[in-house]
Amino acid sequence: TGTPVTVLGLGLMGRALAGAFLSAGHPTTVWNRTMAKADALVARGALLAESPAAAIAASPLVVVCVSDYDAAADVLQGPLDGRVVVNLTSGTPSRARTLAEEVARSGGGYLDGGILAVPEAVGTSGAVLAYSGPRPLYDAHESTLGSLGTGLHLGDEPGLSATHEMATLVLMWGMLDGFLNGAAILGTAGVSATAYLPIAQTAIDTVAGWLPGYARQVDSGSYPADDGTIDTHLAAMAHVVEESESLGVNAELPRLLRALAERAATAGHGASGFVALVEQFREP
Ligand code: NDP
Repeated sequence: TGTPVTVLGLGLMGRALAGAFLSAGHPTTVWNRTMAKADALVARGALLAESPAAAIAASPLVVVCVSDYDAAADVLQGPLDGRVVVNLTSGTPSRARTLAEEVARSGGGYLDGGILAVPEAVGTSGAVLAYSGPRPLYDAHESTLGSLGTGLHLGDEPGLSATHEMATLVLMWGMLDGFLNGAAILGTAGVSATAYLPIAQTAIDTVAGWLPGYARQVDSGSYPADDGTIDTHLAAMAHVVEESESLGVNAELPRLLRALAERAATAGHGASGFVALVEQFREP
């Protein structure tokens, strides 16, 4: 049998996590505020604890997945002697650092983590879980945590996982809003979103292919206009804003994109490549 694990919080995600540990053969103790949510797991062999403290006492590794950090801090009240807490609740980097300190004061070790997957994918290699916190703690539990999916250790600083989550959410929302905005523009021409798909997907694949070169420019701080200048983009942005306004669709996103490029041009980057915009995102 594998290392015993405890899972605190049996919402949609917590139940998937506990289920994956059971499938991998780990003796699994569970606790949830609403006890009935443990029924199916208990039927599969999980042990139901009567309190968070009893659940924490049962295993060296304690996985927490509740709604927010206030709830996580609540369930982790009390002694944590020698326990390693892996908090998979979503939150901010500053809350991750605070909770790491609270856990240390209670005698526990702390890893923060983000789940880049839906509950159905948990337990498969397609589920990526990104962890941050002391490397030795991660190494000690890497194989047990491997039952949940593909694990990545991002670094020792506990807030790193939440910082990556923030960055990735902004990336995904930006792309998704761009798709929805494009679908609204095409809707005025009677084109369905489904009909737009082949071109939209190709555009996202194309942009994904540019990322390695963009990343090098961001990291080096030099933005040669290899493909086009910010001034050239600005002219196209002005057309999209004007046309959106005359079509009567929302023009906020095109206006924001134009405003950022205008500021970059004013800052002297009109003849630079698109990556010069990164400087606009570094300012408040
Ligand atoms: P659910 O709403 O399904 O579950 C929330 C869980 O938190 C329940 O177990 C609930 O208990 C518990 N809870 C809430 N408040 C308290 C409290 N004050 N004290 C004790 N327990 C509490 O959410 P999910 O399981 O979907 O999400 C949990 C975390 O996982 C979130 O941070 C979410 O962002 C993250 N996540 C979820 C993903 C998903 O696809 N679902 C993907 C990636 C991350 P009770 O049952 O009693 O209400």
